[in-house]
Amino acid sequence: MSDIKKMYLDGQWVLSSSGETRTVVNPANGEIIATVTEGTADDVKTAVAAAKRAFYKDGWQDVTAGERAEYLFRLAAKIEENAEELALLEVRDNGKPLRETEYDVADTAACFKYYAGIATKPHGQTYDVPDKDMQTMVVREPIGVCGQIVPWNYPLLMAAWKMAPALAAGNTVVFKPSEITPLSAVRLFELMEETGFPKGVVNLVLGAGATVGNEIASNMDVDKIAFTGGTKTGRSIMAAATGNLKNISLELGGKSPNIVFADADFDTAIDYALFGIFCNQGQVCSAGSRLILQDTIYDQFLERLTERANQIVVGSGEDPDSEMGPMISEAHMEKVLSYIEIGKEEGATLLCGGYRLTENGLDKGYYIKPTIFKDVTPDMRIVKEEIFGPVLVVQKFSTEAEAIEIANDTVYGLAGGVFTVDGAKALRVIKKLRAGITWINSFNPTFNEAPWGGYKQSGIGRELGTFGFEEYTEVKQININLNPSPIGWFK
Ligand code: NAD
Repeated sequence: MSDIKKMYLDGQWVLSSSGETRTVVNPANGEIIATVTEGTADDVKTAVAAAKRAFYKDGWQDVTAGERAEYLFRLAAKIEENAEELALLEVRDNGKPLRETEYDVADTAACFKYYAGIATKPHGQTYDVPDKDMQTMVVREPIGVCGQIVPWNYPLLMAAWKMAPALAAGNTVVFKPSEITPLSAVRLFELMEETGFPKGVVNLVLGAGATVGNEIASNMDVDKIAFTGGTKTGRSIMAAATGNLKNISLELGGKSPNIVFADADFDTAIDYALFGIFCNQGQVCSAGSRLILQDTIYDQFLERLTERANQIVVGSGEDPDSEMGPMISEAHMEKVLSYIEIGKEEGATLLCGGYRLTENGLDKGYYIKPTIFKDVTPDMRIVKEEIFGPVLVVQKFSTEAEAIEIANDTVYGLAGGVFTVDGAKALRVIKKLRAGITWINSFNPTFNEAPWGGYKQSGIGRELGTFGFEEYTEVKQININLNPSPIGWFK
């Protein structure tokens, strides 16, 4: 029993009310690396009750911004002190190469520091209204109990993106990691306990989406739900949240375009096209999964791109030579492989990859060779649907207008990039792109300082930056009568 990883509810490490457990698998080799307690809807209710009490009764609402900042700075320092351990834990739980998890851990600490800084900055406004006796102002207040649900592709970083702004703004939190990758969250909550957050302010619930996640989304005492994950799940969370019309933020899927014009710096565009789709095994919401190439460089670009994709070293994330790790799970690998079959059946031409890697011991894990399809049409499922794996589809254009039309021909609107040395053209294209996160001569890098989120079916609201902070606040208007005297409206 003592080896079972527990949940953190109301300042206590506890087993699930059902006694059920779940095993956690290392996707690099299929080995079981941990057993975690499997939470229930009742456990969520316990967590929510604690978060509600901490917010409304125990005084977290009255903790000053400076004190909240102190908690977050202390937590960031603890993350930095334990960076090596956290990075390795994330490799084993998620599979991504160590160089990526090292970056994720550093960014996680930076996110907590960024929001520690934001907590104490000015947030209100005052207004000069058409009544000389009235002083009107706006203050931002915490929303209350925030339910937060994240996916498995950036387990630790997504925890920071959710909890840092929520806590900086003075909310209490009920957090649920993906059931596939709960380990870094458990470690993070141990560090939060050491940091000394008061009982009930931060709560960790482990378990499945359909039970634990659904209870967080539907619970009438949760004031806000913030979710990152698939668009389909986002829809069901939105429906579940209607009971008390809770405040909602959704960060969902994408099928993001990466447009390369003939005048782009060739090697830079090649490099980012690879980084855009194969970084984190293509399991990135903002992945540049649709490469939109100008016809005059189409053949030359694809020849070099294919050559480079074939050279990518795929292997265990713990192997320092690995540039790409395994898919998150066997089930997800099968899903990606089935999309590759769909692409072939739809008539697309496979340029490279298209299969599972099993040689040199890789058969125990869930590895897929980097895959590129050309000769695709807009109606193909591999062009329209998010595959969330190392599968790139290449589309061709001749004019600027055509590039924009192809880029926007999607139900998603998360991200997009354009490569060209013509600055005016780049900005013209970006301004027409219906997407929330964009790059010129780059793809994928993002910063705690700038807002993250999508247009269309890629989500609602923004994370990060001051926009992300505001998502965790209510806006209160205060009107002060500077010259109190009867209004005299009624005789
Ligand atoms: P998912 O939607 O299956 O699961 C995400 C989380 O939601 C998990 O914690 C899961 O347990 C929970 N969940 C599942 N069903 C639920 C339900 N009915 N009610 C409440 N919670 C539920 O997504 P995933 O497979 O873990 O992650 C991949 C998806 O996440 C991709 O679509 C990707 O684009 C998206 N994503 C988006 C962003 C972004 O910022 N926009 C970032 C990362 C990942």
